[in-house]
Amino acid sequence: MKFSHPYAIRKFNHFNQLCFDGKLPPLTIEMCDSKSYLGQCTYKIRKKADGTQEKYNFRIRLSLRADLPEDELDDILIHEMIHYYINVNNFKDTAPHGILFRQKMELINNIYGRHITISHKSTKEQKEKMHDTRRRWHVIAVITMNNGVKGIKVLPRVLTSILKYYNAVTSSTQVKSVELFMSDNIFFNRYPNSSALNYYQLDQDVINTNLKGAERMKCDGKTIIRNV
Ligand SMILES: [Zn+2]
Repeated sequence: MKFSHPYAIRKFNHFNQLCFDGKLPPLTIEMCDSKSYLGQCTYKIRKKADGTQEKYNFRIRLSLRADLPEDELDDILIHEMIHYYINVNNFKDTAPHGILFRQKMELINNIYGRHITISHKSTKEQKEKMHDTRRRWHVIAVITMNNGVKGIKVLPRVLTSILKYYNAVTSSTQVKSVELFMSDNIFFNRYPNSSALNYYQLDQDVINTNLKGAERMKCDGKTIIRNV
């Protein structure tokens, strides 16, 4: 499931009562389309007349790209609420996810059986889910180097671009072979689509798994033959 604004507000109020004694002041919760984070707690800082700093204009931003079970969405929200709790109270922590953050996080995890983590931004599974999931056809070149290194390249579906790449790469003395495939696996959506003379190194297993069912094409340097 994904966040919605009413859901986030309802859950903020719920966890505010449950985990923060209802003491977190209301704040703006915004939905966004970020690919780089699932949740974020932002604020501004100003200097007060007495020289001390004041944090204000707190917001929690939640990415509509997070497509996760309810429990995991809630953990993302609570993670941001811990940031909010520390900053709105002007507590000093040792780092953004410092001792204070971890103490509060572990307390909530232990008491309420939650699984909040320090970085919900970087787990592999969640990153996968942030990627574009529309199915579309890609031309994939699989490059095998003489030293055994393998890689892939997502090419434009334009004959001249494919030939330009294929001919340039096969003429390199370091390249053992270039194979071409048509695939609609969403795995390939994350790679830039271009005919620039580069490739992305990948393990043989990962390539094989993701090209399962792909259509192999043959190229003789002048044309491409499908269904081979
Ligand atoms: Zn954080």
